[in-house]
Amino acid sequence: MTQRRPIVAANWKMNGSLTSIRPLLEGICSGLEVKSDAEVVICPPYVYLAELADKLSKSEIVPGAQNLSHLESGAFTGEISADMLKDFSCKYVIVGHSERRALYGDTDGLVAAKFMRAQDVALVPILCVGEQLAERESGDTEAVIERQLNAVIELAGIEAFNDAVIAYEPVWAIGTGETATPEQAQEVHAFVRLLLARHDDAVANKIRILYGGSVKAANAVEIFNMVDVDGGLIGGASLDADEFLSICHAARGS
Ligand code: PEP
Repeated sequence: MTQRRPIVAANWKMNGSLTSIRPLLEGICSGLEVKSDAEVVICPPYVYLAELADKLSKSEIVPGAQNLSHLESGAFTGEISADMLKDFSCKYVIVGHSERRALYGDTDGLVAAKFMRAQDVALVPILCVGEQLAERESGDTEAVIERQLNAVIELAGIEAFNDAVIAYEPVWAIGTGETATPEQAQEVHAFVRLLLARHDDAVANKIRILYGGSVKAANAVEIFNMVDVDGGLIGGASLDADEFLSICHAARGS
């Protein structure tokens, strides 16, 4: 069986200030002197990446970003390129977060283009997929996940998933306090692995699939214990050092 090192990735979204992130980072760094099994990633707002790269330079915590442009450079006001993220030591970048899909026009095609652009500069995309509540209730969860994944497989090819992470994030569980049960998460994670295995078994076994959606210290262990769950993408709970540290320590290597 393939060993997969878990990842716990913080998505700070559009939260924080220089005043608030300094103690938050200090708290997380000192708490992780007792090493977690998981690879810990922090994705702050872009403007705090310099601060993060500086503060994390001597730690094992890895900087990441929440989004990127699918284009290389040029007259694209307000956009941030993959190369710029590399300048600030980013290793990972989230693509296709449901908030981007719902609010900023990130279609399946655009998400696939961003995924490829990230890999062009050796950034590892964390590809988010997930169904809305109405889609779950109408029994369309698997069809939605399949559509979102296929868009990337068709453009980037299955081998591209050797250097990628997937995050299953049911939209109805993001920021709502409502979490998928461990069994619901496992069911979709197993489906994602199966779908990839139809193309390539080795890729399917190797890829890390994170769960995201109201993970907190109180529910992390039972979710992370599921066989196809390889860690989590953490929103709200990553803004509290103690809470986030408990989640990091809940992720155990297989
Ligand atoms: C997210 O936005 O990726 C997320 C999982 O948020 P939360 O943990 O707050 O539900």
